[in-house]
Amino acid sequence: MQINEALIRSVVAQVLSEVGRSAGAPVAPKSFNGRNGIFTCPNEAVTAAREAFEQLQERTIEDRKRIIGHIRRISIDNCVELGTLEMQETKIGRLPHKIEKLKTLGERTPGVEFMRSEVFSGDHGLAVIEHAPFGVIGAITPVTHSLPTITGNAVSMLAAGNSVVVNPHPSGKKVAAEGVRRFNQAIHRDLGIDNLICVIAEPTLESANALFAHRGINMICVTGGPAVARAALKSGKRAVVAGPGNPPVVVDETADLDNAARCIIRGGAYDNNLLCIAEKEVFVVASVFDAMLAAMERAGAVRLNAREVDTLTKNAIVQVGEGEHKHDAPSKDFLGQDAAVLAKGAGKSISDKVELIFGETDLSNPFVPVEQMMPFVPFVRCRNVEEAIDRAKEAEHGFRHTSIIHSNNVKNMTRMGRVMDTTLFVKNGPCMASLGLGGEGYLSFSIAGPTGEGVTTPLTFTRERRCSLIDDLCILGQPKR
Ligand code: NAD
Repeated sequence: MQINEALIRSVVAQVLSEVGRSAGAPVAPKSFNGRNGIFTCPNEAVTAAREAFEQLQERTIEDRKRIIGHIRRISIDNCVELGTLEMQETKIGRLPHKIEKLKTLGERTPGVEFMRSEVFSGDHGLAVIEHAPFGVIGAITPVTHSLPTITGNAVSMLAAGNSVVVNPHPSGKKVAAEGVRRFNQAIHRDLGIDNLICVIAEPTLESANALFAHRGINMICVTGGPAVARAALKSGKRAVVAGPGNPPVVVDETADLDNAARCIIRGGAYDNNLLCIAEKEVFVVASVFDAMLAAMERAGAVRLNAREVDTLTKNAIVQVGEGEHKHDAPSKDFLGQDAAVLAKGAGKSISDKVELIFGETDLSNPFVPVEQMMPFVPFVRCRNVEEAIDRAKEAEHGFRHTSIIHSNNVKNMTRMGRVMDTTLFVKNGPCMASLGLGGEGYLSFSIAGPTGEGVTTPLTFTRERRCSLIDDLCILGQPKR
């Protein structure tokens, strides 16, 4: 009888492996390669993201640049297709702006070039401070910018060497998964690492809470309204919280009113007022109030009269919550809809081309305190700039997010800057100028007010590490020998 040595060796290997397994020997971990970041189970997503993070640790900074290059390219090249998907799924905002947001985030989100190290050099040697990744980050993203927030977060977090698991808003989950699938596929094909960006394809509050509590999540970054901001702060993990805003605008008697009107329309109408930094209510000093409203009309906005404002308010603002938590909120039928839809809700017919509608209200109108996220902006008449700034402070609710002034009086600008104490303070421009879009600075769609990091960058998602060499390499210093 002939003995097939190869067959015997393979049978013996199989038997030994079975014996080893039953004896508790380590089993190779299940690989999630090929999943392209799409998961339903938070635990699997975190395990896959951990595997990806460990692989990224072994790679060069140049590789990180290549990885981010894929995210940027897809975001820019596929902006029309993915922006259209986002519009169709979320049904809020304006299509050209959905497309533009993806392109802009692809082009301008800070990447590896924002990473840096600091050095202390002296008589006792050298200390180098380096910025190391946290590991796996759990991110929660809003419906107002589902894929754009994921794109910006992914570029910044991966530039710093992390991986991320995203729990998107349920109403933006499909575009979130499609974008993430494309990013991972390209990265996997080029660099052999899959799942650097994972997404929960069927997100719920339970899956968000599972990420908050998961031992494998090293840091949390949430972008959203008050409820998720509170939940993240209670999670017990290091949290970067990009919370809600209600940005007020002050216009004083020295302002260039035509420029102010153009800026308020540009910022307040963008994506139908979905931006958290967008102009939401305007306080104008009485001496230029009527001239300011005329400037708004000249710039293309349409004015509602008092009766129309009342009708819109009844239709577009609803009460939510129970008992002491009862409060005014934007109606889902109007949130993020076009100005023409809002005008219809006010009993007025206007052209589809109108970007913003506005009207005079008093302070008690709910459009003033509510973060309405619709292209109707209330204008409130104030006796003087002091009153306007005080009203602006009340309307902002202490979120310390964004505030805006149109003025040529540096004292008024200074006073408002001090009183408001907001993360972003814009003078004589539309809100987006503060993110480097028409002004100086850089871009992010996660602006962390409550936890203080401000406009997030790759450095936001790092841990400081110090590497000290004692009494050497201090070429200029003199160690005592
Ligand atoms: P939202 O608060 O309804 O939802 C945001 C995300 O949090 C979603 O994924 C949602 O599913 C999740 N979520 C909500 N409550 C939660 C809870 N208790 N536990 C865990 N997860 C929870 O907000 P939205 O309507 O999607 O987005 C608009 C809000 O986001 C506005 O308030 C806006 O100001 C804010 N926002 C802030 C920034 C910023 O950079 N600061 C950027 C964009 C949007």
